[in-house]
Amino acid sequence: MRIVIVGGVAAGMSAASRAMRQNPEADVVVFERGEYISYGACGLPYVLGGDVDSFDDLIARTPGQMRSRGIGVRLRHEVTGVDAKAATVTVVDHDSGRSAVEPYDKLLLATGVSAIRPDWATTDLGGVHVLRDIPDGQAIESSLKDASAHGKGRAVIVGGGYIGLELAETLHCRGLSVVIVEKAPEVAGRMLDRDYQQRVRAELEGNGVEIRCGTSVEGLTGKDGRVTGVQTDHGLIRADVVIVAVGVRPNTGLARVAGARVGKTGAVAVNTRQETAVEGVYSAGDNTESLHRVTRRKVHIPLGLTANRMGRVAGVNMAGGDATFPGVVGSSIFKTFSLGAARTGLTQTEADELGLRAVSVDVSSTDHAGYYATAKPIYVRLTAEHGTGRLLGAQLVCNNHESVKRVDVIAALLHGRGKVQDLFEMDLSYAPPFSGVWDVLLVAADRLS
Ligand code: FAD
Repeated sequence: MRIVIVGGVAAGMSAASRAMRQNPEADVVVFERGEYISYGACGLPYVLGGDVDSFDDLIARTPGQMRSRGIGVRLRHEVTGVDAKAATVTVVDHDSGRSAVEPYDKLLLATGVSAIRPDWATTDLGGVHVLRDIPDGQAIESSLKDASAHGKGRAVIVGGGYIGLELAETLHCRGLSVVIVEKAPEVAGRMLDRDYQQRVRAELEGNGVEIRCGTSVEGLTGKDGRVTGVQTDHGLIRADVVIVAVGVRPNTGLARVAGARVGKTGAVAVNTRQETAVEGVYSAGDNTESLHRVTRRKVHIPLGLTANRMGRVAGVNMAGGDATFPGVVGSSIFKTFSLGAARTGLTQTEADELGLRAVSVDVSSTDHAGYYATAKPIYVRLTAEHGTGRLLGAQLVCNNHESVKRVDVIAALLHGRGKVQDLFEMDLSYAPPFSGVWDVLLVAADRLS
């Protein structure tokens, strides 16, 4: 049994480990075109910000550790073709320049996503970056050192999604003045409803980040090979460093060549066992779509837990076991400065767009008992289906960033198609340093029921 895995980060390495555990006799080989495997890309902003000491700390398992478990790892090996009829892949070794044809019994495409680089961002100018992997992080680190060597620099982040917002804090803490340029009317993308986006924006502006929404980038200016500015439809913004964080695109090229179906979401379509439409070919991770358990629609929400879980399911199945991926409920969370923002399920805006009869309640309270010294205001929007009381989603924002992690209570209920009354009846933990006796989620459920 030869299992070939393309891509060696979250989905690929989870699959490799699980496949070996399921069938220790299997010959498992991972081809990774980059120089690193098995690392937490989610930690990249925190290395740049100094909360994590080095990029190496993000590496969960080295190639040596994986090989000692019997997993073949080939770095700087890019899979450039798939012949699903012959059950082979073509692999180019970027060190020797040689290409080889490798057979498989089961093939996993765990190729992730690529950062979108609009035409204006395709440039040789130094100081212009995307952030997807460790080499991108190292390149940003070196630009930040250059910028600080020339005094207080200025960073322009193009894109106000969660990666842009995490980086705004990072770059500010590194002593740069930070401008976020966002085409949409607000930051935080489609993650939150408008008024919750505005709370995020207020936090950034309160910390001195300049935000220019409703602004499109048209080009870059440069001098002596380095970027000097960002040209927008509202004028030129001086810049020493530019981060392009305008979204990602699933890497579906190999899946298409193999004959797999790509869904309307733009990501690879699979069944619950992570099998594509092509016999023996699986897909998992950021390149793959999943089922949204609230809407029962296919979605592409590229996040870390989803990638690890899909990889695990694919690994078990490729090695002869039987596992299924349960789908997602659209949970995500981020921090910028002291503010945490989280959502799960649907926002009111999303529910409206889907034509659902949704109703929301807003509660502002404190995250700890009101009299407790570190209590901070917390804002919760709870959304449910009108008439049935079925929970549809929640959004939380709080300046004690860890307090928004209580969103997971709602995520758990959404998995079981829970109702507002189910939430209200829950025996949630209480002590003054953690919440009021009636936690803000219970207050929201009470008001909505
Ligand atoms: P990837 O990590 O993209 O790995 C795919 C690998 O496949 C790459 O190494 C690539 O080189 C390789 N590859 C592609 N094509 C080929 C080929 N033809 N041949 C060989 N190799 C190939 N998620 C969260 O849930 N929470 C967070 O807080 C969070 N923060 C993030 C912050 C940043 C800055 C970034 C970049 C991501 C963050 N994510 C977060 C997303 C999370 O990191 C991803 O969901 C996860 O890494 C996806 O893993 P993956 O294995 O599917 O894809």
